[in-house]
Amino acid sequence: MQYTEIMVRYGELSTKGKNRRSFIDRLGTNTRNALSGFKKLEVKAQRDRLHIRLNGEDYHQVADRVGKIFGIQSFSPVIKVTRDVEEVKKTAISIFNEIAQDGMTFKINTRRSDHNFEYDTNQMNDLLGGTILSNFPGVKVQMKHPDIVLRVEIRMNGIFLSYEMLPGAGGLPVGTAGKGLLMLSGGIDSPVAGYLALKRGVDLEMVHFYSPPYTSEQALNKAKELTAKLAPYVGKIKFIQVPFTEIQETVKRDIPASYLMTIQRRFMLRLCEKIAEKRHALAIFNGESLGQVASQTMESMAAINDVTSMPVLRPVVSMDKNDIIKLAEKIDTFELSIKPYEDCCTVFAPTAPKTKPRIDRSRQYEEKLDIDGLIERSLSGIKITEISSDDHYLNAQEETFAELL
Ligand code: ATP
Ligand code: MG
Repeated sequence: MQYTEIMVRYGELSTKGKNRRSFIDRLGTNTRNALSGFKKLEVKAQRDRLHIRLNGEDYHQVADRVGKIFGIQSFSPVIKVTRDVEEVKKTAISIFNEIAQDGMTFKINTRRSDHNFEYDTNQMNDLLGGTILSNFPGVKVQMKHPDIVLRVEIRMNGIFLSYEMLPGAGGLPVGTAGKGLLMLSGGIDSPVAGYLALKRGVDLEMVHFYSPPYTSEQALNKAKELTAKLAPYVGKIKFIQVPFTEIQETVKRDIPASYLMTIQRRFMLRLCEKIAEKRHALAIFNGESLGQVASQTMESMAAINDVTSMPVLRPVVSMDKNDIIKLAEKIDTFELSIKPYEDCCTVFAPTAPKTKPRIDRSRQYEEKLDIDGLIERSLSGIKITEISSDDHYLNAQEETFAELL
C-alpha cells in the first residue's frame, strides 16, 4: 500500500489542560528530531493530531521510529487522494483487496472538516459501503466491533483514508517533566532506569564515570553505545563522561576496604549534584534495585544519599531482576549490557563490601580526604558528547581481535 502520511494521536496529554500547548509543541519538536534522518518528511503538530507527511520516504522505516516516541498513544498510516469520490472508491477497493477476507465485517467511518464537500458524512458512508458490498460479496456491514474500520477524513486539501491503528510508545513527551541526570554504567539496570525516566517525560543527560587506564576505551564506548540505544526515544542525548581515576585510587589507598564502595558512590553523587546544578537538572536517576547487590540495601542507599539533598530517583527500585531483563531485551540494551567490558566499579570492587554501612562512619573516614580538590579536578576533566541513534562506538573488529587474544 502506498501510504502518503502518518496520523498520530496524542497520549495522556489530553488530560493536561493548560499545558496542552507546550506538550504538543514539545512532541512536535521531539518527533522532528527523532525523524531528522528522513530529509523529505514534513511534521505538522496540530491541536488534536500530529501529521507526518512522507513525501516519498519509506513508511515502514518511519513507522519504526514513530513507535518509539513517548507521548504518542497510537498512529495510523494514511493514504491521501484528491477530493474526487471516484478516487476514494478506487482506493477503498484496493485497501479491501489487500485486507478483506470472506466472513469479515466492516464499517465506514467518515469525518468532515470541510462542510462544503458535495457529500455529507452519512452519504459518504452509504456510498462507500455500497461500493465495498458490491465488490466484495463475502463481507458484511457491522456497526459494533467490526473487523475493519475504514476511516475517511474529508479536508480542504484532500481526502484521507486509513484502516490500521498501531499502538504508540505511550508515556509523556520527553522534556515535559524537566531535566534529569542518569547515572549510566555499562550494566543492565541503569539503561532500563533511563528508559523508564524518559517515558515519564524526563529530559535525560547521561553521566558516566570512567577510570583510565584501569577501564578500557571499550568500556567507555559501551556506555556511549547504550546511550545511542536510548536516543531513538528522544532524538539526541548528551553523554557526560567524568574521570574517576584519581578518586578511586585515593579511596582505595586511604579508606578501609569494607567502605570502599560506599565512599566511591558518595563521590559519584557529589559529582552528579555539581553537574546537575551547572546543567539545571532537577534530579539524579540511577539503576539501583533494592536488595540486588551489597550496595543496594536501604542502609547503603541512606549512607550514599547522605551527601546530597537533591532527589535521587530509582525507577527500577522495586523491580525483580527478571523483569528488568525483560525490559532490557525489549529496548535492545541487554545484549550490549552483558558484554564483558569492565567498568570502574567492577575494577575497584572490594571483595567484602559492607552491606550495612553507617552514615557516621562514612563521614568519619572521609575526613582525611581532600574532597573539594578531588571533586574539582574530576569536574575539570569532563567531556560532553551529543549522541544520536545512528552513532556507533563499539568497534566490531576490535572485539573479535580481543577475543582472539
Ligand atoms: P547497573 O546494571 O546499572 O550497572 P548494578 O546492578 O550493576 O547496576 P551497581 O554497580 O551497584 O549496580 O550500580 C548501581 C547504580 O550506580 C547503577 O545502576 C548506576 O546508576 C550507577 N553507576 C554505577 N557505576 C557507574 C558508572 N561507572 N557511571 C555512572 N553510574 C554508575
Ligand atoms: Mg553495574
